[in-house]
Amino acid sequence: MNVLVTGGAGYIGSHVVEELCKTGYKPIVYDNFSTGHIDAVSDDVQLIEGDIHDFSFLKHVIGEYEIDAVMHFAASSLVGESMVDPAKYYYNNVAGSLGILDAMRETGANLLVFSSTAAVYGEPDQVPITEDAKHAPTNVYGKTKLMIETMMADYASAYDLRYVALRYFNAAGAALLGNIGEDHNPETHLLPLIFKAALGERKDIAIFGTDYPTPDGTCLRDYIHVCDLATAHVLALKYLAEGGLSKAYNLGTEHGFSVREIIAAVKKITGKDFAVREEARRAGDPAKLIASSEKIKKELHWEPKHSSIEDIVASAWRWHSTHPNGYAK
Ligand code: UDP
Repeated sequence: MNVLVTGGAGYIGSHVVEELCKTGYKPIVYDNFSTGHIDAVSDDVQLIEGDIHDFSFLKHVIGEYEIDAVMHFAASSLVGESMVDPAKYYYNNVAGSLGILDAMRETGANLLVFSSTAAVYGEPDQVPITEDAKHAPTNVYGKTKLMIETMMADYASAYDLRYVALRYFNAAGAALLGNIGEDHNPETHLLPLIFKAALGERKDIAIFGTDYPTPDGTCLRDYIHVCDLATAHVLALKYLAEGGLSKAYNLGTEHGFSVREIIAAVKKITGKDFAVREEARRAGDPAKLIASSEKIKKELHWEPKHSSIEDIVASAWRWHSTHPNGYAK
């Protein structure tokens, strides 16, 4: 099966591409390298430099490579940035995804695995969050992903399209072989920033908000290993290929760690000490995001295997400590 992977040179996309190769699928990576890295894609994978906004080229590639299914990762994905530059998010995420849906409709590629997010829920009434919880995103990023899920549902009822939306909680960790990992510029995510502090590349790590209604006052997040996300994508693709109907699934571990707990885990596992400073809340951050992943466990038999906090921190540390400049040579 030929699978077009938009954003396949990015953090989550590149780990999914490795899993597709391992399980006998043929990924074709489509990436504009605005945030992705050439070196995140192995030399034996077909790599096409293209933009999801380039509708005619996208259609050409889907036809030329006889694409059966699309995995769509290409997106802007920073909560904080989405609040100060919403135009970028509506254009890249909503307009970009509309182009993909139409390119699929016009070419007949009809299976789609979509990279969604826990941010579609907003501040939950209760945790763990199940898929049928209310959708009330607190930030523009989450709003754009929810809009795309709505578009996919409408396309699926009107046209020949079936999709699985995977709502990730906090993706973290790196490939077990240490060959690929997380490299954003600028970096805004908690774990990579803590590693930079541990490596002495920054003088400290800031905690954004210490007055949340949580046991230690800092936000709770459900961290899921990127390799466990990758296996879920392949299961979702298999499900669709076997005729499965359109669905949304959460991907998390059902356990929340506070910002302070994550900092403590990194200090313990790396043996490094560094300064921690307390700052005001970051706009758009819900206090607690913890997944129920019962649905995908039951229906697709997915099980996270690498998502203990020890495995997440150890694999990410291996990547960051051996690639202090990320993919830069
Ligand atoms: N966070 C923090 N300091 C940082 C970066 C993030 O305290 O330098 C917090 C952030 O407010 C959130 C959690 O860490 O509560 C995870 O943030 P991240 O940006 O990694 O992922 P998000 O939950 O936004 O997808």
